Amino acid sequence: MNDVAGKALEVLKKYPLCDRCLGRLFAALGYGWSNRERGDALKRVAVMSLHERIWRREEGALEEFRRVAGNIGMQAAPLYEKLYGEKLEARECIICGGRLDEVIMKAAENGRRLLKAYDVSKYIVGVKLDPEVEERERRIREEFSLPYGESIKAEIRREVGKRMMGDDMSPDFEEPEATLLVHYPSGEIEVQVNSLFIRVRYWKKARYISQAYWPGPEGPRYFSVEQAAWGLLRETGSERLILHASGREDVDARMLGSGRPALIELKAPRRRRLPLERLEEAANRDGRGLVEFRVEGLGSRRMVRLYKEDYSQKRKAYKALVAFEGSVDDNDLRGLEEFFKGRLILQRTPRRVLHRRPDVLRRRRVHSVRCRRLMENAAECLIVADGGLYVKELVSGDEGRTTPSFTEVLGKPAECVELDVVYVEHPGLEPSSLKPR
Ligand SMILES: [Zn+2]
Repeated sequence: MNDVAGKALEVLKKYPLCDRCLGRLFAALGYGWSNRERGDALKRVAVMSLHERIWRREEGALEEFRRVAGNIGMQAAPLYEKLYGEKLEARECIICGGRLDEVIMKAAENGRRLLKAYDVSKYIVGVKLDPEVEERERRIREEFSLPYGESIKAEIRREVGKRMMGDDMSPDFEEPEATLLVHYPSGEIEVQVNSLFIRVRYWKKARYISQAYWPGPEGPRYFSVEQAAWGLLRETGSERLILHASGREDVDARMLGSGRPALIELKAPRRRRLPLERLEEAANRDGRGLVEFRVEGLGSRRMVRLYKEDYSQKRKAYKALVAFEGSVDDNDLRGLEEFFKGRLILQRTPRRVLHRRPDVLRRRRVHSVRCRRLMENAAECLIVADGGLYVKELVSGDEGRTTPSFTEVLGKPAECVELDVVYVEHPGLEPSSLKPR
């Protein structure tokens, strides 16, 4: 007997297998059935062919059935009892230990409840399998040269995924909101909830506000942009908030004008289907009027790269209040504007950040400078430059570490007293308006 039914009987003569595990060895044959149906069908045919041989009084057939019946299980039980007058003792499945069906049912049921608690509607299922189980299955497939099989991993993944499906949730391989991980054979489940991403712009209307939350031993030194957004933590029931911004301004610089594009990541949210207006309202709840957010839509993990990519290629516009030692006249300022048009600046890491950054030489271009004299020794300057240029040092020269500088060109010390970022260029993330909200 070398057909499919014969093969199945050959396997069963040697190993006890549950319906699923037997059927799975033939998973690629037939279509639209579960492996359990395949296994059940094969077992019934096996019982029938053995019964036929017993019926023909073939020698040894009765003994053969007696030996194999325990490996077949319940499909053989009625005939067994009829022939031998005793109850059949079914043996445990050699691959799954007889737990597969139960694990699939329970994982689907509990997994569904767990995912609902996290407001998840799009999921994928992952399986953490004991390598011994995998190995036993592989060996049987090899021993009987069965090329039509499917792995137990694939079956658990598919069956659990299918059973959890409903009007309110379905599998999604493109952008799942969570992964349900099923451990086999323990049957434990865990959920890995993907972060919720919100595209925003932020405005920092005061100085001495840091971008990241940075707690010290006695609490954070500065109020932070991240902290200002914590209303979102409560609104979404998330565990943590991370701001992925397109660059950052100094702690003492304001962020005005265009605002700065950023992606807010909310970890392990319990509510993810909220209208954008409500998210925006929550984002602005803790800003104390110092930080404002505009919500521009939802994002995704993939977008983090877009925000974090090299921003030296993008321009920034700054408004600097510059003080000079001694007076300057309009001619001096026109001279500055002329000199810095498209000027390449060589800049060694400023002394003020040397304690946390390596000493490197960077090249950044100033695109334009426009100055308005406020007093005889002060001017307001609008500077457009490559991202990453240290503007305070462009003005002061940082004792020769930045060259050329305002100090160097004017021949008298200049200092940036106040700095505002007024425009952040970011291709693909142009502001829809310059108004915060
Ligand atoms: Zn099994």
